[in-house]
Amino acid sequence: KDSRQIEGGLFPRKVVPVLIPMPAERAYSYALPEGVEAGPGQIVQVPLGPRLVAGIVWDGEADQVNPDKLREVTQVFDCPPVNEPMRRFIDWVSAYTLSPPGLVARMALRAPAAFDPEPMIDALRLTETRPERLTAARERVLEQAGDGLAWSKSGLAHAAGVTPSVIDGLFAQGVFEPVKLPPPPVVPDPDPDYQPAVLEDGQAEAADALRATVAKSGFGVTLLDGVTGSGKTEVYFEAIAEAVRAGRQVLILLPEISLTAQFLDRFHDRFGARPAEWHSELAPRMREKVWRQVTEGRVSVVAGARSALFLPFHDLGLIIVDEEHDPAYKQEDRVFYNARDMAVVRARLAQIPVVLASATPSIESRVNAQQGRYSHLLLPGRYADAGLPDLKLVDLRRYPPARGGFLSPLLLRAMAETLERKEQSLLFLNRRGYAPLTLCRVCGHRFECPDCSSWLVEHRFRGQLQCHHCGHNEPTPQACPSCGALDHLTPCGPGIERIAEEADKHFPDARVIVLSSDMAGGTRRLRIELEAIAKGEADIVIGTQLVAKGHNFPLMTLVGVVDADLGLSNGDPRAAERTYQLLSQVTGRAGRSGRKSLGLIQTYQPQHPVMQALASGEPEAFYERETDERSRAMLPPFGRLASVIVSAATRPEAETHARALRAAAPAAPGIMVLGPAEAPLALIRGRYRFRLLVHGERGRDMQGFIRAMLAQGPKARGSVQVQVDIDPQSF
Ligand code: ADP
Ligand code: ZN
Repeated sequence: KDSRQIEGGLFPRKVVPVLIPMPAERAYSYALPEGVEAGPGQIVQVPLGPRLVAGIVWDGEADQVNPDKLREVTQVFDCPPVNEPMRRFIDWVSAYTLSPPGLVARMALRAPAAFDPEPMIDALRLTETRPERLTAARERVLEQAGDGLAWSKSGLAHAAGVTPSVIDGLFAQGVFEPVKLPPPPVVPDPDPDYQPAVLEDGQAEAADALRATVAKSGFGVTLLDGVTGSGKTEVYFEAIAEAVRAGRQVLILLPEISLTAQFLDRFHDRFGARPAEWHSELAPRMREKVWRQVTEGRVSVVAGARSALFLPFHDLGLIIVDEEHDPAYKQEDRVFYNARDMAVVRARLAQIPVVLASATPSIESRVNAQQGRYSHLLLPGRYADAGLPDLKLVDLRRYPPARGGFLSPLLLRAMAETLERKEQSLLFLNRRGYAPLTLCRVCGHRFECPDCSSWLVEHRFRGQLQCHHCGHNEPTPQACPSCGALDHLTPCGPGIERIAEEADKHFPDARVIVLSSDMAGGTRRLRIELEAIAKGEADIVIGTQLVAKGHNFPLMTLVGVVDADLGLSNGDPRAAERTYQLLSQVTGRAGRSGRKSLGLIQTYQPQHPVMQALASGEPEAFYERETDERSRAMLPPFGRLASVIVSAATRPEAETHARALRAAAPAAPGIMVLGPAEAPLALIRGRYRFRLLVHGERGRDMQGFIRAMLAQGPKARGSVQVQVDIDPQSF
């Protein structure tokens, strides 16, 4: 028993709420040991069951807990506190996404070893004492260290060209004293005036406007809109320079950070130093260092994937979201959030500006700009009058590929001409592997994943059939497992490997590179290949959507879209918008260095509004039509959507639970529930999935409605799981 409590609260222990990074619905109460202080935001260690875990001291009153049960904070880390705007951000994301705050906090604490300060580094500094006997080697050391700065022993030995024992000798005579130095920064400070670009008039105007928002600080969203190659990056670099001059931190969000070596180099050219990186492939040691130095404010610019939004910056002053329309900003795992939208929230809570950049802005952002909530900066055209590629539709009904092929004679001819000019072609097909479906010509057997409702995709390079949803794979058999017929398995439709085969057949001497996210060798290998392409070491590049993003390939003058209709048929109201964005982006890879360039778009639907928008280079009419349609159907951003996915080990369990939830939905004007229906992927990893779609008019309390439905409905028991996705990607 705690005597201090018994003695009538003479020395009542201070009790604080601590938010622990696990699926906890609220902060738990802990006592502070006598004499220990820890205010909101402080990172502390507390006992939880048999373990010790880190948590954040939260705001507000701690829950009343029986003093006998109250456990004590075991350690207050020597770490800058998570600041107020960041704590409010965690609360906000938690309430918006209906995720436990502890789960959101966990995204902010992704570097457990960094809560303790980085160890100081041992170094040496010259004292007033001089050695009795001066050798040539010693003289060199003295000269080298004469600048009065601290040196590491090995660094000094190296610089002076002596063995470390020479320095040991001097140290023994008191010529050097030991000093402790803070660990070096993960990246040197960027210099805002290192190498500014000379901006064209339109660019300069946009840069001035952005600089002004940074100088005045305060919350504001700017949509920076301009075709690929118009200089959006150069322009927002000026906003970054302004924030760095003001001594504030900057976050740049990029959709595919692990592949953007080129971006980091460009940043280096402009600022004389790279930004710190933050993404899932960072080595753990580096991760710890970056996290720590970001919280200390020692790192001033971070370029990161969506998860970087949850770094507890010391003094964040500006956020850039590049390619703001990109679906990669959506996380669909545990906490379902869109980093673009949450970046705007983060900026509002921190009262700082945010820039959304895109050549093909999302309809959401366009509407926000049109309605005056965002300011809109439009860059006039490609830098240095570099033309955009000439985009042409190839009507596959009129110019069909040869039997067994997928490349129209028009595209093949353009490739031949490009090869002759010693320039590069890109063939784009958003489908990995050799063929999306394999069937037996004798009995019609199709290869399906045993755990998902999807076909197995043949990967011929690996001799495997793979499921793209769960990773299940099996060797491609010779005989049909159903009828036993030998060598009658037929690939149906193309994947990039099959396109590579076709390109090889037509252009046997061309150097072909095939790129996809599942390539052997992973990200490292991809980076190497991307660099090789930029240097002109390939003639034909064949790739999935990852080649569409951000890369600058100076020699690329032809882009062929193998199947432009691919994304249009999935019944999702966003399909047309996405297809337009993806195809503009991928064709925008061509002609960036000012050479004349061509985009050929193979389609069976040349009249489709997306194809028309691409071919005419005038997307305005298309965007307006899409926006009108959304408005009429009250789809986002004119109405709100959430999807509630119920999954279970058996189909009836999932369906029954989904029906019961639907029945428990309270009556609420302006909100309705559709379904349950089988989710678009009805079976993933052996789990059956049903979906309820909640539709609300603008301004309705969707979260309150869903919370009530979940509270009144049956608890998820056994194998049943319920996932809420506010603002789902597809609907
Ligand atoms: P975006 O981000 O709109 O695609 P970028 O900023 O990448 O455009 O610019 C496209 C290319 O043009 C890049 O190679 C960039 O370095 C170059 N560029 C753009 N503006 C300038 C400028 N004012 N001075 C020099 N180079 C520029
Ligand atoms: Zn599967």
